[in-house]
Amino acid sequence: MIRYIASCSCGKDSVAMVLTLIEKQYPLDCVVFLDTGKEFQAIYKVWDKLSEILDKHCIRHVRLKPYNTFDYYFSEHEVNTRSGESKIGYSWCGGRCRWMTTMKTMLISNFYKTNYPNDTICEYIGLASDELDRVKIKRENTVKIYPLILWGMTENDALVKAFKYGIEWLEPNGTNLYQVLDRVSCYCCGNKNLKELKAIYQYLPEYWQKLKNMQDKTSIPFRDHESIYDLEKRFKDEG
Ligand code: SF4
Repeated sequence: MIRYIASCSCGKDSVAMVLTLIEKQYPLDCVVFLDTGKEFQAIYKVWDKLSEILDKHCIRHVRLKPYNTFDYYFSEHEVNTRSGESKIGYSWCGGRCRWMTTMKTMLISNFYKTNYPNDTICEYIGLASDELDRVKIKRENTVKIYPLILWGMTENDALVKAFKYGIEWLEPNGTNLYQVLDRVSCYCCGNKNLKELKAIYQYLPEYWQKLKNMQDKTSIPFRDHESIYDLEKRFKDEG
Protein backbone atom coordinates (compact mmCIF):
# COMPACT_ATOMS: atom_id res chain seq x y z
CA MET A 1 0.00 0.00 0.00
CA ILE A 2 1.19 3.54 -0.65
CA ARG A 3 1.09 6.01 2.27
CA TYR A 4 1.31 9.73 1.65
CA ILE A 5 3.08 11.54 4.45
CA ALA A 6 4.02 15.22 4.72
CA SER A 7 7.13 16.11 6.61
CA CYS A 8 6.45 19.47 8.26
CA SER A 9 9.02 21.62 10.07
CA CYS A 10 6.26 24.20 10.70
CA GLY A 11 8.25 26.74 8.72
CA LYS A 12 6.40 28.69 6.00
CA ASP A 13 7.20 26.33 3.11
CA SER A 14 6.08 23.08 4.69
CA VAL A 15 3.00 24.72 6.22
CA ALA A 16 1.98 26.19 2.84
CA MET A 17 2.59 22.78 1.28
CA VAL A 18 0.25 21.01 3.75
CA LEU A 19 -2.46 23.66 3.30
CA THR A 20 -2.24 23.42 -0.48
CA LEU A 21 -2.21 19.60 -0.45
CA ILE A 22 -5.51 19.78 1.44
CA GLU A 23 -6.93 22.47 -0.89
CA LYS A 24 -5.99 20.49 -3.98
CA GLN A 25 -7.26 17.24 -2.38
CA TYR A 26 -3.98 15.38 -2.79
CA PRO A 27 -3.82 12.06 -0.89
CA LEU A 28 -2.48 12.74 2.62
CA ASP A 29 -2.38 10.06 5.34
CA CYS A 30 -0.32 11.80 7.96
CA VAL A 31 1.63 14.99 8.75
CA VAL A 32 4.78 14.57 10.83
CA PHE A 33 6.43 17.39 12.78
CA LEU A 34 9.78 16.62 14.39
CA ASP A 35 10.20 18.79 17.45
CA THR A 36 13.90 19.18 18.30
CA GLY A 37 13.03 20.98 21.53
CA LYS A 38 14.87 24.09 20.30
CA GLU A 39 12.07 25.54 18.21
CA PHE A 40 10.85 29.11 18.58
CA GLN A 41 7.58 29.48 20.52
CA ALA A 42 5.92 30.70 17.31
CA ILE A 43 6.61 27.31 15.71
CA TYR A 44 4.68 25.51 18.45
CA LYS A 45 1.75 27.90 17.98
CA VAL A 46 1.80 27.26 14.23
CA TRP A 47 1.77 23.50 14.87
CA ASP A 48 -1.26 23.88 17.15
CA LYS A 49 -3.09 25.90 14.51
CA LEU A 50 -2.18 23.46 11.74
CA SER A 51 -3.26 20.53 13.94
CA GLU A 52 -6.73 22.11 14.28
CA ILE A 53 -6.99 22.37 10.48
CA LEU A 54 -5.84 18.75 10.08
CA ASP A 55 -8.37 17.59 12.69
CA LYS A 56 -11.16 19.23 10.71
CA HIS A 57 -10.09 17.19 7.68
CA CYS A 58 -9.58 14.00 9.75
CA ILE A 59 -5.90 13.82 8.78
CA ARG A 60 -3.56 12.14 11.23
CA HIS A 61 -0.82 14.36 12.65
CA VAL A 62 2.11 13.33 14.79
CA ARG A 63 4.69 15.31 16.74
CA LEU A 64 7.89 13.28 17.14
CA LYS A 65 10.61 14.05 19.66
CA PRO A 66 14.18 12.75 20.08
CA TYR A 67 14.65 10.07 22.76
CA ASN A 68 16.45 12.57 24.93
CA THR A 69 16.55 16.37 25.11
CA PHE A 70 18.64 18.53 22.79
CA ASP A 71 20.47 19.83 25.86
CA TYR A 72 21.39 16.30 26.91
CA TYR A 73 22.92 15.48 23.51
CA PHE A 74 24.51 18.94 23.43
CA SER A 75 26.51 18.74 26.63
CA GLU A 76 26.07 15.43 28.47
CA HIS A 77 25.93 12.53 26.02
CA GLU A 78 29.10 10.45 25.65
CA VAL A 79 30.13 10.61 22.00
CA ASN A 80 32.61 8.30 20.26
CA THR A 81 34.51 10.35 17.69
CA ARG A 82 35.79 9.04 14.33
CA SER A 83 39.34 9.08 15.70
CA GLY A 84 38.25 6.53 18.32
CA GLU A 85 38.35 8.95 21.23
CA SER A 86 35.34 9.83 23.29
CA LYS A 87 34.05 13.28 24.24
CA ILE A 88 31.11 14.64 26.18
CA GLY A 89 28.36 16.25 24.14
CA TYR A 90 28.00 16.94 20.42
CA SER A 91 27.99 20.71 21.09
CA TRP A 92 26.54 23.05 18.41
CA CYS A 93 24.52 21.53 15.58
CA GLY A 94 25.12 22.95 12.11
CA GLY A 95 27.62 23.08 9.27
CA ARG A 96 29.25 19.70 8.78
CA CYS A 97 28.17 18.48 12.23
CA ARG A 98 24.39 18.41 11.91
CA TRP A 99 23.90 15.71 14.49
CA MET A 100 20.26 16.59 15.20
CA THR A 101 19.47 16.44 11.47
CA THR A 102 20.86 12.89 11.41
CA MET A 103 18.77 12.06 14.47
CA LYS A 104 15.64 13.55 12.85
CA THR A 105 16.12 11.42 9.72
CA MET A 106 16.53 8.31 11.87
CA LEU A 107 13.46 9.08 14.02
CA ILE A 108 11.26 9.65 10.97
CA SER A 109 12.51 6.43 9.36
CA ASN A 110 11.74 4.55 12.59
CA PHE A 111 8.26 6.09 12.65
CA TYR A 112 7.59 4.84 9.12
CA LYS A 113 8.93 1.35 9.89
CA THR A 114 6.87 1.07 13.09
CA ASN A 115 3.61 2.55 11.79
CA TYR A 116 3.64 1.52 8.15
CA PRO A 117 5.92 -1.56 8.07
CA ASN A 118 4.67 -3.04 4.80
CA ASP A 119 3.95 0.17 2.94
CA THR A 120 5.76 2.32 0.45
CA ILE A 121 6.00 5.88 1.70
CA CYS A 122 5.47 8.85 -0.56
CA GLU A 123 6.95 11.69 1.43
CA TYR A 124 5.96 15.26 0.61
CA ILE A 125 8.84 17.68 1.19
CA GLY A 126 8.16 21.42 1.43
CA LEU A 127 11.01 22.96 -0.49
CA ALA A 128 10.00 26.08 -2.40
CA SER A 129 10.59 26.36 -6.13
CA ASP A 130 13.38 28.88 -5.48
CA GLU A 131 15.27 26.31 -3.37
CA LEU A 132 15.89 23.64 -6.02
CA ASP A 133 19.52 23.22 -4.95
CA ARG A 134 18.37 21.67 -1.64
CA VAL A 135 16.68 18.69 -3.29
CA LYS A 136 18.22 15.39 -2.17
CA ILE A 137 16.75 11.91 -2.49
CA LYS A 138 17.52 9.14 -0.02
CA ARG A 139 15.48 6.91 2.34
CA GLU A 140 14.68 3.23 1.98
CA ASN A 141 11.21 2.36 0.59
CA THR A 142 10.47 6.06 0.31
CA VAL A 143 9.70 8.19 -2.70
CA LYS A 144 10.12 11.92 -2.18
CA ILE A 145 7.79 14.42 -3.79
CA TYR A 146 8.37 18.18 -3.89
CA PRO A 147 4.89 19.70 -4.43
CA LEU A 148 5.93 23.37 -4.09
CA ILE A 149 8.41 22.89 -6.94
CA LEU A 150 5.71 21.11 -8.95
CA TRP A 151 3.33 24.03 -8.34
CA GLY A 152 6.00 26.69 -8.90
CA MET A 153 5.32 28.10 -5.43
CA THR A 154 8.03 30.46 -4.18
CA GLU A 155 8.97 31.24 -0.56
CA ASN A 156 6.94 34.45 -0.77
CA ASP A 157 3.91 32.58 -2.17
CA ALA A 158 4.22 30.23 0.82
CA LEU A 159 4.01 33.13 3.29
CA VAL A 160 0.96 34.52 1.48
CA LYS A 161 -0.75 31.10 1.56
CA ALA A 162 -0.15 30.68 5.31
CA PHE A 163 -1.36 34.23 5.98
CA LYS A 164 -4.60 33.42 4.15
CA TYR A 165 -5.27 30.81 6.87
CA GLY A 166 -4.39 33.24 9.67
CA ILE A 167 -1.02 31.59 10.27
CA GLU A 168 1.83 33.90 11.24
CA TRP A 169 5.15 33.32 12.97
CA LEU A 170 4.66 35.76 15.85
CA GLU A 171 6.64 35.58 19.05
CA PRO A 172 5.00 36.61 22.37
CA ASN A 173 6.91 39.94 22.25
CA GLY A 174 5.29 40.71 18.88
CA THR A 175 8.32 39.95 16.69
CA ASN A 176 7.38 38.40 13.36
CA LEU A 177 10.13 35.84 12.81
CA TYR A 178 10.06 36.05 9.02
CA GLN A 179 10.64 39.79 9.20
CA VAL A 180 13.93 39.37 11.04
CA LEU A 181 15.21 35.89 10.05
CA ASP A 182 15.92 34.33 6.65
CA ARG A 183 14.91 30.87 7.89
CA VAL A 184 12.95 29.84 10.96
CA SER A 185 14.90 26.80 12.11
CA CYS A 186 16.12 25.86 15.62
CA TYR A 187 17.02 29.09 17.43
CA CYS A 188 20.45 27.64 18.25
CA CYS A 189 21.20 26.51 14.68
CA GLY A 190 24.88 26.76 13.81
CA ASN A 191 23.89 27.61 10.22
CA LYS A 192 22.48 31.01 11.17
CA ASN A 193 24.26 33.87 9.44
CA LEU A 194 25.54 37.00 11.17
CA LYS A 195 22.50 39.03 10.13
CA GLU A 196 20.16 36.50 11.74
CA LEU A 197 22.26 36.24 14.88
CA LYS A 198 22.24 40.01 15.24
CA ALA A 199 18.46 39.98 14.78
CA ILE A 200 18.14 37.43 17.61
CA TYR A 201 20.38 39.63 19.78
CA GLN A 202 18.33 42.75 18.97
CA TYR A 203 14.74 41.52 18.76
CA LEU A 204 14.65 38.22 20.63
CA PRO A 205 16.68 38.72 23.84
CA GLU A 206 15.05 35.75 25.54
CA TYR A 207 16.60 33.44 22.92
CA TRP A 208 19.92 35.28 23.06
CA GLN A 209 20.04 34.49 26.78
CA LYS A 210 19.32 30.82 25.98
CA LEU A 211 22.25 30.86 23.53
CA LYS A 212 24.51 32.27 26.24
CA ASN A 213 23.32 29.55 28.62
CA MET A 214 24.23 26.94 25.99
CA GLN A 215 27.62 28.56 25.35
CA ASP A 216 28.32 28.23 29.09
CA LYS A 217 28.06 24.45 28.63
CA THR A 218 30.49 24.06 25.73
CA SER A 219 34.01 25.27 25.05
CA ILE A 220 33.39 25.18 21.29
CA PRO A 221 32.76 28.64 19.79
CA PHE A 222 29.42 29.09 18.11
CA ARG A 223 30.76 30.40 14.82
CA ASP A 224 34.28 30.22 13.36
CA HIS A 225 36.33 31.51 16.29
CA GLU A 226 33.55 33.52 17.91
CA SER A 227 31.60 32.42 20.96
CA ILE A 228 28.12 33.79 21.69
CA TYR A 229 29.83 36.23 24.08
CA ASP A 230 32.24 37.39 21.33
CA LEU A 231 29.26 37.90 19.02
CA GLU A 232 27.48 39.88 21.73
CA LYS A 233 30.53 42.17 22.05
CA ARG A 234 30.67 42.53 18.26
CA PHE A 235 26.98 43.54 18.10
CA LYS A 236 27.35 45.94 21.04
CA ASP A 237 30.35 47.57 19.34
CA GLU A 238 28.39 47.89 16.11
CA GLY A 239 25.71 49.73 18.07
S1 SF4 B 1 17.94 23.50 12.15
FE1 SF4 B 1 20.14 23.59 12.59
S2 SF4 B 1 20.26 23.03 14.78
FE2 SF4 B 1 18.25 22.39 14.06
S3 SF4 B 1 18.55 20.26 13.42
FE3 SF4 B 1 18.82 21.51 11.60
S4 SF4 B 1 21.04 21.88 11.47
FE4 SF4 B 1 20.59 21.19 13.54
